[in-house]
Amino acid sequence: MYPVPGHVALAILGNRYLKADWLPVLIGGLLPDLIDKPLNDIFHWTPHGRYAMHSLTAVVVLTLVVQYFFQWAAAYSYMIGHLSHLLGDADFNPWFWPFVSYRFPQGIDVLDIFSAPGTIFFPGWILLETVILGLVIFLYSRYAEKCSVQAAVLTAIAALTVYRVTRSHPTGYTGL
Ligand SMILES: [Zn+2]
Repeated sequence: MYPVPGHVALAILGNRYLKADWLPVLIGGLLPDLIDKPLNDIFHWTPHGRYAMHSLTAVVVLTLVVQYFFQWAAAYSYMIGHLSHLLGDADFNPWFWPFVSYRFPQGIDVLDIFSAPGTIFFPGWILLETVILGLVIFLYSRYAEKCSVQAAVLTAIAALTVYRVTRSHPTGYTGL
């Protein structure tokens, strides 16, 4: 998923339904790409744009780090955000890095947004993720107070998310 709007949308759901605090849940939702993308796409130190931070190992380690420096509410909220990021990228994550060795698929280079935007910029995907974000924001409105409305909207969000995550990249690459 794109960091915005897709990953932000899923992280916000953690605030709405899992009592995650805004700031740590958003940081958890965005940090995996903020670390893994530069390490691979700019510095070429890692084999793929979804690497260590896109693993459950990182979720555990970072949650413990936040717990050490802050308190459990922040650590819990961060954990929800980080997990939501992995869900949004569920088409490929090295879930059990470094305990399992992975064959990394052909990756996307975010710097191509300047030189070859056609390999990374898909208006249809951004539109779909924007719709998901819009539905998530709608859940905060007074029009979504009824449980039946919430259930219907959540079902739509889940269906659109699965549809979006399972779309294969037109170039055959993985790792947006
Ligand atoms: Zn990611």
